Amino acid sequence: MINVTRAFLPPAEQYQKYLKGIWERAHLTNNGPLLLELEEKLRTYFESKHFSFLNNGTSAIQIAIKGLELSGEIITTPFSYVATTSSIVWENCKPVFADIDAHTLCIDATKIESLITAKTTGILATHVYGIPCDVEAIEKIATKHGLKIIYDAAHAFGVKYKGKPLVNYGHASTLSFHATKLFHTTEGGGIVTNDETAAHKFNYMRNFGHKGQEDFWGVGINAKNSEFHAAMGLCVFPYVEEIIRKRKELTELYDELLLKDNLQITRPTIPAETEYNYSYYPVLFESEAVLKSVVLSLQADFIHPRRYFYPPLSTLNYVKKQSVPITTDVSSRVLCLPLYYELETEQVKRICQIMRHVLRFKS
Ligand SMILES: *Cc1c(COP(=O)(O)O)cnc(C)c1O
Repeated sequence: MINVTRAFLPPAEQYQKYLKGIWERAHLTNNGPLLLELEEKLRTYFESKHFSFLNNGTSAIQIAIKGLELSGEIITTPFSYVATTSSIVWENCKPVFADIDAHTLCIDATKIESLITAKTTGILATHVYGIPCDVEAIEKIATKHGLKIIYDAAHAFGVKYKGKPLVNYGHASTLSFHATKLFHTTEGGGIVTNDETAAHKFNYMRNFGHKGQEDFWGVGINAKNSEFHAAMGLCVFPYVEEIIRKRKELTELYDELLLKDNLQITRPTIPAETEYNYSYYPVLFESEAVLKSVVLSLQADFIHPRRYFYPPLSTLNYVKKQSVPITTDVSSRVLCLPLYYELETEQVKRICQIMRHVLRFKS
């Protein structure tokens, strides 16, 4: 069976080496040495002043919203994983959806300004599939209107834009290190920021608000992560370059086999000056009907692509319905094909062969 993704596992001996140290120290969580080492490594990698390692990418978004003191309305993308919208609602804010750009599939910056009201406090945009949002245009709007920017950068590990890590844009960027992500710590996530005050808040908020043992800075929650998760991160981190290289190779093979012979498959656009991470392989078909026939044929061969992201988040039963025609259209006919480190060239060829067959004999 071939799934859309498969977790990368480092050699078991490398993880076991870290386990030995954890057993000796009996320091399992609460800012242990492995967690501090991972945070330091990632801070350097992100070229950022601050990075807080957290228990997952969803609490990262929630803490970013709370720590940056967003309230009222947050302008966001309807084309992302559910956690982007649910976190806004969880923090008692209202998501206001700006439609996406038909090429990058990220929030369309030109649609943000008309949605700003007296209640708007921030923008939460996703670098979907690791494709950079129009960070310059978004920054201009945010500065003009005094809004905070949070990027859901769950897909953006390793992406650079204009020579700078993409997670370095905005007031804060949140990451997910869930097992299925390009870089992972089994479960995990974090927030990148260059803002001293925000970083301080993120750090106490993840640890119940503690200021020492008997005092508290403010309200907090338990969003810490453990030595076991940090150890996985330390084991996976040295492979990141190799993981990205392998994904690039598979992406180029998909491109070579699918983007020819008038197959009516299109791909999102990666903006210029992007060093991409190849975190997903999304394709767009002519229609949902074509997508469905492709999915059926692949499934018959035990190949399981995923409809990332369907349906639009503006259709969730706990948000106000809003019209986002481009998202509705894209979401109905976009499919992510299998892409992971261990995927074999022959498997990609097989997937493309099935797809080419369906697409040539459709109608
Ligand atoms: C995976 C993901 C999340 C959630 O991260 P978790 O670590 O699973 O909580 C949030 N946003 C996007 C865009 C994601 O893909």
